[in-house]
Amino acid sequence: MDLNSPLRELSGIGEKTEKKLQKLGVYTVSDILLNFPRGYVKYKEVTSLKDIVEALEKHQAEPLNYDNPLNEPVAILGMLKTPAVNKTFYKNGGKKNITLATVFTDCGSFEAVWFNTPYVKNQLFMELPFVFYGKINTEGGHKFKMDQPAIFVPEEYEVKRQSLQPVYSLTFGVTNNLMQKTVKEALRMASFREDYLPDIFIQKRNLVPLSKATEVMHFPDDFEQLKKARSRIVYDEFFRFLLQMYMQKEDENIILNSFKIESVNYYEKALKNLPFELTDGQKKVLEEIRSDFDGEYVCERLLQGDVGSGKTIIAFLLMLIMAEQGYQTAIMAPTEVLAVQHFETFKKYMSDFELPFDAVLLVGSMTAAEKRRVYKRIEEEDSLFIIGTHALIQEKVNYKNLSFVVTDEQHRFGVKQRRTFSEKGIDPFVLVMSATPIPRTLALILYGDMKLSVISDVPARRLPIKNAVIKKNKRKTAYTFIAKEVKAGHQAYVICPLVESSEKTEAENVVEYTEKLKDYYGDSISIGLLHGKMPAKEKNAVMEAFAKKELDVLVSTTVIEVGINVPNATVMVIEDANRFGLAQLHQLRGRVGRGDAQSYCIFIDGTEGEKTSKRLEILSESNDGFYIASEDLKLRGPGDFYGIRQSGDFGFEIADIYQDAEEMQEASEDVQELLQMRENEPEILISVLERINRSSGAFYTNL
Ligand code: ADP
Ligand code: MG
Repeated sequence: MDLNSPLRELSGIGEKTEKKLQKLGVYTVSDILLNFPRGYVKYKEVTSLKDIVEALEKHQAEPLNYDNPLNEPVAILGMLKTPAVNKTFYKNGGKKNITLATVFTDCGSFEAVWFNTPYVKNQLFMELPFVFYGKINTEGGHKFKMDQPAIFVPEEYEVKRQSLQPVYSLTFGVTNNLMQKTVKEALRMASFREDYLPDIFIQKRNLVPLSKATEVMHFPDDFEQLKKARSRIVYDEFFRFLLQMYMQKEDENIILNSFKIESVNYYEKALKNLPFELTDGQKKVLEEIRSDFDGEYVCERLLQGDVGSGKTIIAFLLMLIMAEQGYQTAIMAPTEVLAVQHFETFKKYMSDFELPFDAVLLVGSMTAAEKRRVYKRIEEEDSLFIIGTHALIQEKVNYKNLSFVVTDEQHRFGVKQRRTFSEKGIDPFVLVMSATPIPRTLALILYGDMKLSVISDVPARRLPIKNAVIKKNKRKTAYTFIAKEVKAGHQAYVICPLVESSEKTEAENVVEYTEKLKDYYGDSISIGLLHGKMPAKEKNAVMEAFAKKELDVLVSTTVIEVGINVPNATVMVIEDANRFGLAQLHQLRGRVGRGDAQSYCIFIDGTEGEKTSKRLEILSESNDGFYIASEDLKLRGPGDFYGIRQSGDFGFEIADIYQDAEEMQEASEDVQELLQMRENEPEILISVLERINRSSGAFYTNL
């Protein structure tokens, strides 16, 4: 067995389980090792039944403001005064066992129940304290009952509490326990994971060996150890990425501009008919990029502009120039929802400005027949505006004369995708757009080959978003506020971190939340639900309904984070805002404040901790993305990455270009040093490449 062996070769993994894991994109031993936890939890402090009773009373009095304590596992200290009993009964033709015990605590007792684990009786000694870990319920007429509790000797529980438990992304039928077991099994085989890095770099950077780092990422003793391991993994991700990028660059030549811009009549016509005046920033970048179009070399630009600065119209106008010359242009968006939105916007511009061009949409959720029709048009039609998702860069798509490729929300794509996109044309112009402000040093590493244009203003009439941070128990004020805005004809977003309820975290989930909100508002307000696990067609329909104002409130996960433009939405409420990164919150907030009306963002802070509120304070004080990103960096300390993971920006799995800027800088230096060493000792580089290939192809998938 090696790292590329299929999962079913691990002991304990059958065909069924393997199928389920494949749904998570986990196919090989290497995949499971690289499938790092989404976060880590500590076992809970031991609580008393009294606290639970009190929390339950609060929840029953004000269900909106207080979470139900019965949804969360708790640890309770208790002991048995009478022996546990085993009972057998027959159900569905099979013999079943149930173990019952009454557990006495410092205030009252509860029933503990186990199913089909009769041996538990032998572990439950009388008159000895145990920690019972599980969810309390009140089912079956019991005052308090705990199903299937895990039991620990108190000292053992304290030891457990010292270490961190990994929390994995799950799919139906895959439990966290199964993930842990599988990873442990794979780790037993991973001892032969060799380090591909030459010793000089390991020593110079004081890096944890790769196999150790991998193990610690899954099962860390504490945050300090986890931090070091993560640093190694992150360094790796950058190192491999930069090595490939720099080597590719060595092979590339400067490309001459072979396009001629003869006339710009339609461009002028569109400009004249715009419903607004372009901002100075927009005018400036238009000029910069137009002069690239006329330049000696092919246009390769990064367009940065904060959320709402109006990048879409810039892309459209530039695409229009190329269309007039008879060429095709294409714009790629990271989500279907956004691609559909761009498509609608472009169609509208074309009809409003009476332009003789057409646009097509290409997204994954289209039927095979629909796709074939679009492929054909892409193969045959001049001057076509092509709008889509990753579907645009698939092999099957052949372009007639693609002259200009625009990538929107570039930070959501990997560099490889950007390249594949431009390879679809013959040395086309390239424009990548992003609202994510990247510090200069990092931009040089990531986009060294591109020129930079920045839109540094937002449309003048726009009022700055008003922000507020509130605690959960003030949530009602947010609801009242939403109702008021809806009454005034506006719309609202409510963002929750999770899709469905989770055993491991208390964060709000959109599914239950939507129900809660529907109960609260009754029929007076129409509420929609959106999350990434919904089929694409459904997502598009919900988004369209919201854009058409058929829905007043949209409860959503971060799927709406990028690009979405519904100017009539004026309120955003973000639940458990403390669980998101600052940059991400800033992006989310950018969904409001896009029209002329005053907009509001309400951050609901789910914790008590001072640090969290300080981060939200920063957002509350400023709407400036660059300032927020720099403050974010300053605030992050050890252990800060264990929250809900960032969304894989720039195509990195683990690494975060802000938080891990240091690792990126180091990896960049080291890659360059390695490439230089090649002059005298070519075999060093060769052996690094060989070992990278052998250790795991998996790392390359996102490049
Ligand atoms: P982003 O830069 O975040 O992609 P968009 O291109 O989606 O922003 O633009 C946000 C909104 O601002 C859109 O409704 C767009 O029509 C509008 N807009 C763009 N430029 C201007 C402008 N100069 N004046 C007024 N509104 C504008
Ligand atoms: Mg945009």
